[in-house]
Amino acid sequence: MSNPQSLTDEERGRFSWQIMMSGFGEDSQHKLKQSSALVSRVGGLGSPVALYLAMAGIGKLVIAHGGVPELGHMNRWIMSPYEGVDKISPVDSVIAHIRKLNPTIELVGVKESVTEENAAELVSQADIIMDCPPYFEERHLLNREAIRQNKPMVEAAVCGAEGYLTVIAPGETPCMSCLGFQSKDWELPFPVIGAVPGVIGSMAAMEAVKVLTGYGEPLKNRLVMYNGETAEFQTIKLKRRSDCEVCKPVVVYQ
Ligand SMILES: [Zn+2]
Repeated sequence: MSNPQSLTDEERGRFSWQIMMSGFGEDSQHKLKQSSALVSRVGGLGSPVALYLAMAGIGKLVIAHGGVPELGHMNRWIMSPYEGVDKISPVDSVIAHIRKLNPTIELVGVKESVTEENAAELVSQADIIMDCPPYFEERHLLNREAIRQNKPMVEAAVCGAEGYLTVIAPGETPCMSCLGFQSKDWELPFPVIGAVPGVIGSMAAMEAVKVLTGYGEPLKNRLVMYNGETAEFQTIKLKRRSDCEVCKPVVVYQ
């Protein structure tokens, strides 16, 4: 049971413009403060995700990303400085940046991307999973672990001028595997202009705020597609696959 009284006066002031939103209030702000998110990779997509979740007042972020930025990332990795190309971990850059914007958030940096070995541990550290890597292998590992640990996952992706977004809720919605997202024919580098992951990453952060607080209607069983070329959004309905190997109903014998 959340207790609005646990917000400090400083937090009431800092978040006053969102607390005043109808249907949000101090109760939602407190829920956010009690919540945590895993952001898998903080490149073009994960950077705005981490930024807006931190600024919204989430209590804890676990940021996982191996390696360092390359020159070609600098059209969209908004929190990695230019002088850090080939040198500075995006985990260090993002944590330093966020710390200046939200001095009270708990930040856990993991300088590894998601692997078969660490996926379960990473997912166990957060209430919601923000799926932002450019590799389908990592996305499927997170999908599997999120389903296994019964945690919601915001699935965000971009390519070219297009972006995609949906909320996966175990038992309620299709999972990544149901949707048939595969790594076939997927190669890096792929075309992208930085504002597109900016749009989708910001929307992904909003979906997480909604799932964590109960505010609004999270994007469950729906997929939003954004076309930056025409500035149009399209929403399609999604259905679970009853024969999905990953999220099929689990029968518990007692
Ligand atoms: Zn499934």
